[in-house]
This record gives sequence, structure tokens and C-alpha cells, in this order.
Amino acid sequence: MIITVTRFFLFFVVIFLAACERQPAAYHEQLLVFGTVVDVQLWGVEPKQGQQAVARLAEDFDYMHNTWHAWHPGPLGRVNELLATGQPFSAPPSILPLIERGTELSRRSGGLFNPAIGKLIALWGFASDDPPKGPPPSDAAIRAIVDQHPSMTDIRRDGIQIQAQNPALKLDFGAFAKGYAVDRAIEVLRELGINNAVVNAGGDLRAIGRHGERPWRVGIRHPREAGILASVEVQGDESVFTSGDYERYFDWQGKRYDHIIDPRTGYPAQGLSSVTVFSQLADLADAAATALFVAGPEEKNWLPVARAMGISGAILVDDTGNIQITPGIRERLYFEPRGDSQLPPEVQLSAPL
Ligand code: ADP
Ligand code: MG
Repeated sequence: MIITVTRFFLFFVVIFLAACERQPAAYHEQLLVFGTVVDVQLWGVEPKQGQQAVARLAEDFDYMHNTWHAWHPGPLGRVNELLATGQPFSAPPSILPLIERGTELSRRSGGLFNPAIGKLIALWGFASDDPPKGPPPSDAAIRAIVDQHPSMTDIRRDGIQIQAQNPALKLDFGAFAKGYAVDRAIEVLRELGINNAVVNAGGDLRAIGRHGERPWRVGIRHPREAGILASVEVQGDESVFTSGDYERYFDWQGKRYDHIIDPRTGYPAQGLSSVTVFSQLADLADAAATALFVAGPEEKNWLPVARAMGISGAILVDDTGNIQITPGIRERLYFEPRGDSQLPPEVQLSAPL
């Protein structure tokens, strides 16, 4: 009898303690910012804290989107106007860090990622809200820009004063601004004491910490089919960014012209349909995905760029559907729709990074 009562009592104590223990809560919200859907997942936060954090991110994303927009009027547009004069001027503090980081990443990519080719991007019609319909620009117009070799090293800097030394230079941060913004968002979350989060901007993301007891699991976009190519478990601090020919492009006389331009030729990069890059920092992953896309599907071309940029892994899908994966990434992929970690036959492992 006494034992039964004690057991009964203990049972309630356990229930009571379990109810008192704060369950770490998941918080999930989607934002329409930065020209895309930004999906924010947080773990271990109270709903109110989650709401406040995401509201702050929404404000920051809006600010960054407007500040770095390549063709809407705003600070970057103004900077491009002043660069075109060839005269020195004081650059706004919202633009200087991107010039600096863009210069560094461009150097590491051997110039394949080149945010100074805004004129080429505009010439192809990609500096516009609606994708162009063609025809492609003339060879002569493309040559006229490519022959002047616009590069980030054409920007002379003295303190906050900058000056363009090449009239063909025009800044377009489209290939790494999203990554840069995601890095800032993660910084803000950490400042707010949030250490378990995924900030996913239209399939490009950075994840920190874990989803409670398990790692975060994220999808990698499929270049040719609706849905994902594979999913991957992410824990610690890692970014996964994809560049592809399937979002902004036009078809002209049976040929696809995509929005990633090879700065060496002035023409859209050929041969790949998507590149996914893994690295800790999102801005590096974003810039490297663009650079590898330009380098093309041959291992001898893209592998040295991947190594020089210091990324931790990559998946390249060429336009015939063949997939190349760097060794460290392969074990972590979970392919759909097979539902197991078997590699589909079209996958080849590359040499180590
Ligand atoms: P997404 O916009 O799909 O994330 P990217 O990150 O590769 O793809 O960015 C592509 C954008 O970057 C283009 O729309 C253009 O504004 C710009 N861009 C195109 N080619 C280059 C290049 N070689 N170097 C730097 N920026 C580029
Ligand atoms: Mg990019």
C-alpha cells in the first residue's frame, strides 16, 4: 500500500517536473525580402524572441536589398554614376565593404567572379526586373567592353575616396550580395543570442548550430526538375549556395543564354546547369558558385578555382545531367527520390579539393 502511494506520488512529481522544464522551441517564419522568399528557422527560442529577431532581419534585408541593387536607383546606382566620371569621390560606408570583399573574392577566383562587369550584364539585358527575350547583343558591342578588361583592381582607393581607372567598369554585386546579406543576418542572430538557425534565401543558405537533438537537414535545388536534387545534413556553421542557368535566362534560336557571364569572352557561361558550393561563409559560397559556373564542367578547369577560393566542397551538374561531387560531400548526401544515400549512376567523384 505504502509503495503504491509513493509510486503514485512520484509519478506526479515526474509529470510536474516535465511540465516545468522549458521545452526548446522551434520558430519558423518566411519573409518576402531581397527579391526572394527568405525562410528563417530558429531553434531553442521563445516565440516572442523569434518574432523580434526575424523582424530585425526583415528590416536589415530590405535595407541591404535597396542599397546594393544593381539597377534600381539607390546608393550603388549613385556610386556607378560617380565611378563613370573617372574622378575621385567619397564612397558611402554601405558600399565600401562590398567593394573590398568583392575585390578579394574576385582575386581569389582568378577573375571568373568579377563584380566589375556590370556593363556586360546590362548589355545582355539582365540588369532588369524581367528577364530579357533576346536577341543577344552584337559581337562588336560585347568585344568593346571585354577588350577593356574591367576588373575590381581598376578601382583606386585612398581612405574612403575611390576612383575608377577604367571607363568600362560598372559594379554589379548580384553574384555575392545575397551571400553577404546572409552572413550579416547570421551575425545579427548571434548578437541576439541565437546560435541555432538556418537563414535560407531562395534555396541558398547558411546554417549554424543544430535543430535540437539532430543536425539541420536542407535541400539542394535540382537544376532541371521541380524539387530537390539531394538533401544534406548541416551542423556547426556551414553555407550551401547554388548558381544555375535555370532562373534567369532566355532562349534564342534554340540556344539558352543564362545570366552568368564569362568575363573572358563576354558571353554566358556554357556547359553546366548548376553548381552548389559548401563553405563556412555565405559570401564566399555565393561568389565561388558563380566562379565555378564560369570555369565550366571540366575538372581541370574548375578544381583549381575551387582550391584557390578555399571552399570545402562542391556539386556540379553539367547540361547533360552528369554530376561531379568532391569527396567530402558525397557521404553526406541523401538522394531523392531513392530515399537512400546510394549515388545515382551519373555521379562521379572528383579529385580531392
Ligand atoms: P543567382 O542570382 O541565381 O544566385 P549568382 O549568384 O551566380 O546566381 O549571380 C548571378 C548574377 O551575378 C547575375 O545576375 C549578374 O548580376 C551577376 N554576374 C553574372 N556573371 C558574373 C560574373 N562572372 N562575376 C560576377 N557577377 C556576375
Ligand atoms: Mg553567386
